[in-house]
Amino acid sequence: MNSYSAKSWLTRLLTALLLATMPVTAGDRQADRDRMVSELSGYGYDITLITDDRVLSAMRTVPRHEFVPAYLQVQAYADRPLPIGHGQTISQPYIVALMTQLADISPGMRVLEVGTGSGYQAAILARMTDRVYTIEIIVPLAASARVRFRELGLTNIIAKEGDGYYGWKAYAPFDRILVTAAARHIPPPLVAQLKPGGLMVIPVGPSWGAQRLMLVRKDDSGVVTTESLLPVRFVPLVSKQNAEW
Ligand code: SAH
Repeated sequence: MNSYSAKSWLTRLLTALLLATMPVTAGDRQADRDRMVSELSGYGYDITLITDDRVLSAMRTVPRHEFVPAYLQVQAYADRPLPIGHGQTISQPYIVALMTQLADISPGMRVLEVGTGSGYQAAILARMTDRVYTIEIIVPLAASARVRFRELGLTNIIAKEGDGYYGWKAYAPFDRILVTAAARHIPPPLVAQLKPGGLMVIPVGPSWGAQRLMLVRKDDSGVVTTESLLPVRFVPLVSKQNAEW
């Protein structure tokens, strides 16, 4: 039994209540967010169908327009990726919803995200569990995401700049890992930092070619299996030297 499942139901209930009342500044544009969420709800089919109320309610709360450059804020609630500078993009809302749903996050879980970017995915995760760790390799993006978290009152996100290929040993192991840039292969350090019973959601494939969203499971005895889910298109996971993994 891992430490998550050992937590009492009371602790989990209290955490859920705390998260629900956390002071995220939702700001305006609630009607736009509601429309975005109602379009996402029931979109997809089979394993890609968005149905998880925990995800939808997080997406109803987090002000996506605060995560994109000012000149693109008018498009913030359309279901499309948008540039965030430095050649990077914020994923389209459907992909954020899908990855978050696949990760199946509950209060009490320790979650790592690789590829902070704008910080939007981390903010969604932070509405669903106590503590989110996120790593970004591009220094100015890491810095502006950190400012955004502070301004929005997202105090349960711990962010650093660095190469997420190696995970974050100081806080490992993680119940869940989400990678939001495409890796050439599943990084072994991330698999090592996944708890038994843990899940990782990661796009895998060549930089600008055929990538697949993969679900990696580590069972309670540590056996790892991978499932290829659907074709996707992400920016590449790069190393410090700027060579792609
Ligand atoms: N999750 C982001 C989407 C970011 S796009 C959001 O919600 O906005 C992917 C991000 O991964 C980019 O910002 C890119 O700079 C970052 N990235 C690429 N390689 C990385 C690495 N090795 N470690 C950490 N971040 C990386």
